[in-house]
Amino acid sequence: MHRDLTIFNRLVEELLKEEISEPVVEPISPVKLDMELDLSLSDNPMIEEDFEASLRDVVLNTPRTATRMFFNQLYGGRNSKAVLGDLLAVMLNTSMYTYKVAGPQVGIEKEIISKVCSMVGYGSESDGTIATGGSLTNMMAMIMARDAFMPEVGNTGVKGKFTLYTSRESHYSIIKNASFIGVGRSQVRYVETDEFGRMDVADLDEKIQQDIAEGSYPFFVNATAGTTVLGAFDPINAIADVCEKHKVWLHIDGAYCGAVLFSKKYRHLIDGAHRAESFSFNAHKMLGTPLTCSIIVTRDKQRLYESFSAEADYLYQTDEDDFNLGKTSLQCGRRNDALKLWTLWKSVGTSGLEEIVDHQFELADVARKYIIESDNYSLYSFDNSISICFNYKEIPATTLCTMLYKNAEIMVGFGVFEEDQFVRLVTINSSISKEDVLKFFEKLEEFVESQMVA
Ligand SMILES: *Cc1c(COP(=O)(O)O)cnc(C)c1O
Repeated sequence: MHRDLTIFNRLVEELLKEEISEPVVEPISPVKLDMELDLSLSDNPMIEEDFEASLRDVVLNTPRTATRMFFNQLYGGRNSKAVLGDLLAVMLNTSMYTYKVAGPQVGIEKEIISKVCSMVGYGSESDGTIATGGSLTNMMAMIMARDAFMPEVGNTGVKGKFTLYTSRESHYSIIKNASFIGVGRSQVRYVETDEFGRMDVADLDEKIQQDIAEGSYPFFVNATAGTTVLGAFDPINAIADVCEKHKVWLHIDGAYCGAVLFSKKYRHLIDGAHRAESFSFNAHKMLGTPLTCSIIVTRDKQRLYESFSAEADYLYQTDEDDFNLGKTSLQCGRRNDALKLWTLWKSVGTSGLEEIVDHQFELADVARKYIIESDNYSLYSFDNSISICFNYKEIPATTLCTMLYKNAEIMVGFGVFEEDQFVRLVTINSSISKEDVLKFFEKLEEFVESQMVA
């Protein structure tokens, strides 16, 4: 073990150095991968030096998601306290299903869940769990909604036309999950959005009424807190009014920006969250923990038990159900995703998490201001969003992003809203500064200039 830890430290030290001097690695074309790197597996063992050299090549050629030039996805950066927690989780190799094997780690997860529940505004009957990503916490919500609507479905399978509602701008996991849970992709009703990409609540109400009139079973509404492209927040209170009227489960998919929960300044964007039956967010997005850490809480813990518990004498041999987290989780063996959030939260406090969230909005404001005040840019996104969507000099966004990537300049992606396609800059890495954001534009402009000369 000690030898491998030494290798680990050596590789990481080198990576950290390289990340500063070369924030974006030269990409290797997939067809050349086998030629450039030694990835093949063979019958015989490798000598230690060759092994370390191969590993080093792989590490140094992997796209760098923690640097100041990575704006490509809804995560980025590297919080060292959270990394420390995750490294320890690997060492401890805990499975979170029982108190017997997880001990205090169960207490850590329960502390996180109970804090989040009370921040959402849920009462003493609430509970939650952690799953591997927002797609799966969304699925858990949908399963609970289905079972709450028709408790026998878990035994008999889905009978009748269940229908569910989500905005056009919502995440694609919603439609996948509709298929996974036996409801079917064609039972997803896409609700229109307004010009800011937020759910049109009148259209939601109309669609639900129509389905009821046709004998369908509206059972689930998904509201998004931070849509994947624009970072828009659906109006939760108005949606909750409609859900209460028709007695439909309301879930809030806060995978991207649900962590505004931690910010006094931006909490208003999810006003009414306590009225939803379930709420999820990814700590690996706005809070900056390593992948993955997705939390779901629900107002009534009975719903979790009813949908996710099953008896297993070989597993549950001691302690109360409340401490055997396998009774409320999707999986059997489950990685310890709680520790990394706990080490972060414990070290910086709730106010530190608030600063992390607020800083991302400040960076977004800097970016928007720059775009508005500079020539040759058009802006497509709005205030209160950390997705800054723009075009530069009418260069097609796909071309610009791909060139920036291939030339190892900047990792940034593109998005589409209605008729427009644009570059989507995401200011989710809270370890960068305002200067780094300005540097992004400087670099982009210099790059375009150099290409025009060439
Ligand atoms: C990222 C995202 C998801 C999916 O989360 P994963 O952890 O990637 O599975 C779901 N919904 C929204 C709005 C997201 O941005």
